[in-house]
Amino acid sequence: VTSPITFSGSPLDRVALARRDAAWLETQRTDEATRFLPLWRLEPLIELGPPRSLAWATQALLAGLEPAPPTVLLGIDAGVAHFAVDVSAVEDPEAAFGVADVARFEELRAVAGQLASEDAAIAAQARSFVDWHGRHPFCPACGGQTVAERAGAHRRCIACGAEHFPRTDPVAIAVVTQGDRCLLGRSPGWPETMFSALAGFVEPGETLEEAVRREVLEETSVRVGSVRYRTSQPWPFPSSLMIGCIGQATSEAIRIDPAEIEEARWFHRPEVLEALAGVGRTLTVPPPFAVAHHLIRTWAEGADG
Ligand SMILES: [Zn+2]
Repeated sequence: VTSPITFSGSPLDRVALARRDAAWLETQRTDEATRFLPLWRLEPLIELGPPRSLAWATQALLAGLEPAPPTVLLGIDAGVAHFAVDVSAVEDPEAAFGVADVARFEELRAVAGQLASEDAAIAAQARSFVDWHGRHPFCPACGGQTVAERAGAHRRCIACGAEHFPRTDPVAIAVVTQGDRCLLGRSPGWPETMFSALAGFVEPGETLEEAVRREVLEETSVRVGSVRYRTSQPWPFPSSLMIGCIGQATSEAIRIDPAEIEEARWFHRPEVLEALAGVGRTLTVPPPFAVAHHLIRTWAEGADG
């Protein structure tokens, strides 16, 4: 997989050590060069462009906000600190910030394909962190109040002291192949010709390979032998890691679980190549925005042997 994976490739250094230094953090928060990415109800502020890009603010924009909105230090780039700031409490924030003519809060999934890969990656990190902090005001161990530490790297419970770290949920996503064919599935509600790799959350107590075999078996009744990891993609909705694999089928007959997918079929390589070229009549595959596209392409172009 050579082309960039959407939501990967952030230029920011997450500064695991420096963020422990409270004095350094305070300097960064008040530095006029420091950049703040506002998110409103998980939507990042995007410049209208063109080109579309993240609309960074300075601390001056946030000075009038009471109470002070939550921030997360995303990292530094060229010596400049970059924070995400959750402005969800602001009513009509584009008007409040005076940016309605130049920028708009937008759903990341809808706008990511128009952003430079670096911006999409930063927005993904920001969205996942802000979402996690918003969901974890209380300690899952004792119910006590939690507070952010190390500029948002984790939270600590005031009552029992437990540390809670942002989680990433692993999702196994696989193109299953047999000779010149690959197995793809269609979810309910998708267009008639749209098929993709099969996917499901890795469950506690199983390996990635076992998760692929279980998911494919559950959804299609097809058995999978060897499984090889190919690439992964951060998926900030809210915070998954798509782990892309190619698996070798050891059986052919398909019997779908209609609770999980609507249809699954074996597709021959020429049909898949047409779909990847955007000229398929019978098959459409996900766009390069999705890791499934890269997995399907890797197999179809023979890069996987
Ligand atoms: Zn607690």
